[in-house]
Amino acid sequence: MPRHKVKPQTSIFSKGYDPQRSEGAASVPVFRTSTFIFPNAAAGKRAFEIAYGLEPKRPGESPALIYTRVNNPNSEIVEDRVTCWDGAEAAALFSSGMGAISASCLTFLRPGDTLVFSDPVYGGTEYFFRHLLPSFGIRTFSFPAGASKEDIDRLVAEHPSTKVIYIETPANPTLMQTDLRVAREVADARGTREQPILVLVDNTMLGPIFCKPLQHGADLVLYSATKFFGGHSDLVAGLAMGSAELVGRVKVTRTILGSNSDPDTAWLILRSLGTLEILMEKQQEHAVRVADFLGYHPKVAKVAYPGLQTMGPAQVELHQRQCTGSGSLLSFWVQGGEAEAFRVLDAVKEMKLAVSLGGIETLIEHPSSMTHADMTAAEKASAGITENLIRVSVGLEDSEDLIADLAQALDTI
Ligand code: PLP
Repeated sequence: MPRHKVKPQTSIFSKGYDPQRSEGAASVPVFRTSTFIFPNAAAGKRAFEIAYGLEPKRPGESPALIYTRVNNPNSEIVEDRVTCWDGAEAAALFSSGMGAISASCLTFLRPGDTLVFSDPVYGGTEYFFRHLLPSFGIRTFSFPAGASKEDIDRLVAEHPSTKVIYIETPANPTLMQTDLRVAREVADARGTREQPILVLVDNTMLGPIFCKPLQHGADLVLYSATKFFGGHSDLVAGLAMGSAELVGRVKVTRTILGSNSDPDTAWLILRSLGTLEILMEKQQEHAVRVADFLGYHPKVAKVAYPGLQTMGPAQVELHQRQCTGSGSLLSFWVQGGEAEAFRVLDAVKEMKLAVSLGGIETLIEHPSSMTHADMTAAEKASAGITENLIRVSVGLEDSEDLIADLAQALDTI
């Protein structure tokens, strides 16, 4: 009989933790310590050799822990467990999504190199690409989310120093998706063995349940784990996942930049992982209903939701090929401008007017003046982030109550 393969929803409860090494504790204890006592000097030396990448880890070897900025049991157990959904060899936990994004990019880019990215991306990432990376001599150019292979290829061909193709899909806040297979093909065609082009994918919006970028050719998948992994709007964290080789290099950067997570945050994530899948499924169920309601509302000009017909046939086809669900993020354009959008935002009673997403409660925000406020008017216009755009992260409240809340808020227009 073929060996039974345990599903992520099962391994998430036990992977990476041996209760007998912690007095039999069924729940993983919080290892609230800054430093670790080595059993002997040779073990300490060996731990540093591995942590600093001086020597590779031998198969099955578990090096001694050193210092919580380098690694900690709580972070390591999270890292072991989260890989099961994306099918990654390894993961690195960070103190924020931006920590994961910045450390990953800085690992693979040097002055003179180029990064090309899908536009729009989350506002912090956008600032990092348009302002910080160029100040270190790294050039950045964007292509529209959902661009064709020809367009991405043309941009990379124009910039032979391209080392990273960075994709956020679906894009925050327009929910436009970009074809990862196409990005892989361009990276393979334009990169060489000596000068490879890496494909980095921010999978925050649909992952890890509804999209698995590593299966579509990504080298590294990145997350704001503040979102669904934490899932309760009570922590900030990030993740980078991929091959052991690439993640190992990212971890060296993490150690030196000091952006590892802390034991308490990692513990909170561990507590949330067991309910992540059902949280995302239930949020999605509610979001489908809310999107349907908005689609027929006379005060709503357009709704963006992954896979919806309003996204256009190419996006629908891509969604079916690349994703297994639509998630719980949706955006809609009200009839009017900022004044009308603000009226809705100020009128909602059950939804919370706050940035962030992927938590148990429904959050509503205004991308143009909040999460994406830093973009210029021209950048916003070309990305479709207009003043009448509202983004909603649908939570676990009763969906009829959410719809009633939006209905009375839209009535104020
Ligand atoms: N990526 C996306 C798609 C996001 O929405 C965010 C934050 O909202 C980030 C990255 C940054 O994550 P963090 O706030 O955890 O640093």
